[in-house]
Amino acid sequence: MTTADLHTLTGAYALHALPDDERAAFERHLAECPACRDETAELTATAARLGLAASAVPRPGLRDEVLRRITTVRQESPGTVRTGRPARGRRWQRASRWALAACVAVAAALGGTAVWQHQRAQDANEQARRAEQNNDRIAAVLSAPDARTASAKLAGGASGTVVVSGSQDRAVFLASGMAHPPRGKVYQLWFDDAGTMRSAGLMDSARTDQAVLLDGGVDGASGMGITVEPAGGSAHPTSAPVALMKFPA
Ligand SMILES: [Zn+2]
Repeated sequence: MTTADLHTLTGAYALHALPDDERAAFERHLAECPACRDETAELTATAARLGLAASAVPRPGLRDEVLRRITTVRQESPGTVRTGRPARGRRWQRASRWALAACVAVAAALGGTAVWQHQRAQDANEQARRAEQNNDRIAAVLSAPDARTASAKLAGGASGTVVVSGSQDRAVFLASGMAHPPRGKVYQLWFDDAGTMRSAGLMDSARTDQAVLLDGGVDGASGMGITVEPAGGSAHPTSAPVALMKFPA
């Protein structure tokens, strides 16, 4: 088995779908290939998170199915991305990792028998896909040629940065070190339309550091605000803002 072949076995290995001799060969390869080590760790975690690897007893033919699916998404080996610009390479690698993780989940679901397990894998893939889309949109705003940034100190030692792109008509709020909202409450973001607050979505209450793409277009808003609202959010602010930030000119 060539090294190029070994690079493609991360998914099957994470699923315990390799026969003994190939597993041994792959484990030797892992010792000298950091890219495969990283990918295997990530795929194993994905499979574990989906509760798949442990319960999926590979049925005959599963391994071939896994390998077929993985080789269709995996056109290049890790560490040999040939595109000239590093940013594109990273992007490709990330997309490929997701595709590979999705394949692992699908293949594991094929090996399992329970319908709920398949459904769970699909839900997880859907979530992963949405998260990926959201991250792409955030990245697009942050890397827009006309992106403008303003930062502010927030209550309790937290800091906030807002990035606005006029060409994309979108804004991203980056929070760092924000205290969790009180129990049963959420942080809600608002666009400031000349004093009228327009809902721009909710922050993730579980995270103190996060990047949030504000819901909706900037549409001439002069700034943004954050309020504490009941779970699910409010149509209009029901409390004094914990932060107000002017958008950069
Ligand atoms: Zn490798």
